[in-house]
Amino acid sequence: MQEGKVYLIGAGPGDTGLMTIKGRELISKADVVIYDALSSLDMLQWAKPQVEKIYVGKRASRHALPQEEINQLLVKEAKKGLMVVRLKGGDPYVFGRGGEEADALVEAGVGFEVVPGITSAIAGPAYAGIPVTHRAYCTQFTVFTGHEDPTKPESTLDIEGIAKAKGTKVVLMGMSNLARLMKQLVEHGQSPDTPVAIVQWATTGRQRSVDGTVDTIAKIAEEQGLGAPAIIVIGDVVKERTKLDWFEKLPLFGRRIVVTRTRKQAGALSHKLAALGAEVVELPTIKIVPPSNPREFAEAVVHSHSYDWLVFTSPNGVDKFFEGFFAVYSDIRSIGGARIAAIGPGTAAKLKAHGLAVDVLAKESVAEGLVQAFKDAQEDIGTLEHMTMLWVHGEQARRVVADGLTSLGAIVDECIAYDTEPELDDPTGAQQLIMQSGADVITFTSSSTVESFMQLDIEWPENCIAASIGPITSRTLHEHGIEPEIEAQDHDINGLVKAIVEFYQD
Ligand code: SAH
Repeated sequence: MQEGKVYLIGAGPGDTGLMTIKGRELISKADVVIYDALSSLDMLQWAKPQVEKIYVGKRASRHALPQEEINQLLVKEAKKGLMVVRLKGGDPYVFGRGGEEADALVEAGVGFEVVPGITSAIAGPAYAGIPVTHRAYCTQFTVFTGHEDPTKPESTLDIEGIAKAKGTKVVLMGMSNLARLMKQLVEHGQSPDTPVAIVQWATTGRQRSVDGTVDTIAKIAEEQGLGAPAIIVIGDVVKERTKLDWFEKLPLFGRRIVVTRTRKQAGALSHKLAALGAEVVELPTIKIVPPSNPREFAEAVVHSHSYDWLVFTSPNGVDKFFEGFFAVYSDIRSIGGARIAAIGPGTAAKLKAHGLAVDVLAKESVAEGLVQAFKDAQEDIGTLEHMTMLWVHGEQARRVVADGLTSLGAIVDECIAYDTEPELDDPTGAQQLIMQSGADVITFTSSSTVESFMQLDIEWPENCIAASIGPITSRTLHEHGIEPEIEAQDHDINGLVKAIVEFYQD
C-alpha cells in the first residue's frame, strides 16, 4: 500500500489570495482535507470533487473537536495510505497547535510536511495600515497570546518582560482578556499613551478596525462592539495607520455583496468584488446539469463541423459544448471551417481560450443584440439565406435567436448543451447569513439566477438593493416585484462590477 502523508498547510489569515502556491497545489492533489479555519471553506473548491472534507472547528451548535482527537484523526487518515491536507488558519506553527499535530504524527510514524502560511499577526496589521516594523519607530516586534492554555496552573505569560520590551507588540487571542491585559501592561511599566489598534476579521471583507491607546482601547473596542477574532497591535507603528490605511479605502469595502451564480462560475465575479474590498457571499442559486436529452446533444456535437455557423449564447454553452467535443475529438480542427458568433464578451473569451476567434459579436449582450449583430454584419458576411447554423444554448433559453436567425433565412439547428436546476445545498451557511444579518447588494447575472433565487424563498433583506447584468435580467426581477437600482451598461461581469462601483461612488 502507498504510504500516507500529512501536509500541515497554513491557510493564511482570511483573504484566499494569501494562500501560498504550494499550499494550493497540495490541496488540489489531496485525498482528504481536514480544516477548521473559516477561510478554508473557499479553498475547498480547489480540491478534487471527490475529496473527503472533514470540518473539525467550532460550529454554532458544538465545540471544536478536541486537539487529541484531531491528532488521532490525522494519523488514522494517513495510515489508510491517503494524502491528507490539514488546513490551519494563518501559519500552522503560530499559535495554531500545528506543533502538537506534527509531534503526534512523528510519534505515530506518519510522514509529514509543513507549508507555512501568512500569519494574521503580520497580515492583520498590514491590512489595517500598520507595518509591524518601521525604521522610524522600532527595531523589534513581539508576538504573544492573550489566552493561555487553561490547563496550566500558572500564567507563563511574562507580562513584565512584555511590558518592558521595546518595539511593536502583537497580541493574538487577546480579546476576551483585553481590559485586564492593558491594565497589567501599565502596571508593569507600559506607557498608557502607547498607541493601540485592533483589527477584527482582518484581510476579509468583514474587516473592522479601531485605534486608541493602551489606556482607552478596551472601552473603544467595547463601544464599537469589536470581538474575536482580532489582532491587537501595540506600539508607535500604529501612528502610520492614518497614512498607510489602504484596504479599508477600497471602493467596495464594508459592502456585503451576494453572488448568485453557480458555484463553479461565481469565482470570476466574486474575485473582482473581493479585490475591491467587498465582503462577498456566494449563494449559488442554480447549478448546471446535463441536458435532458444527452444523446441529441452528443449527436449535435459530433456533426458540428458540417455547419456554416456555430452560434454560442452563453459561456456555459461554450464550456459544455467543448466538454462534449473533446470527449469525441482530440483536435480542435475537427470543428471544421464554421464561422462563429457569440452573444457577449464572456462567451467570446471562452471561445478564445480554445483558440477560436469570433466573427460576429453582439454589441448588446442579449439575444436580440445577437440577431441585430447578424443583420448589421450582412455586408461583410454575405446573406444568411440557406446558411446552416448550430445554435448552442441551455434548455431554458428564449426562442429569440432561433426565430430571428430563421427570419433572416438561416437554417437553424439546436444543440442543447445543459440545463439549470435550483441549487439547494447551502454548505457555507450563506442563506442563513443573509437571512439573519442581511446584505447590501444581491447581484443577478441572468434571468435564471433570479428565478432560482426566488425559489429559495429568502425574504428580501432590508435596505438591500438588486444589481442586474442587463435589461432582460432586470425585467425578470421586475416581474418578481424587485426594481434593480443597479443595471450594468455593459452586460458582462466587468460591466456589472463597474456599475456597482459607480453606484457607491456617487
Ligand atoms: N495560526 C494563526 C493564529 C491562530 S490563533 C495565525 O498564524 O494567524 C487564533 C487567533 O488568531 C485569533 O484569536 C486572532 O487573534 C488571530 N486571527 C486569526 N485570523 C484572524 C483574522 N482574520 N483577523 C484577526 N485576527 C485573526
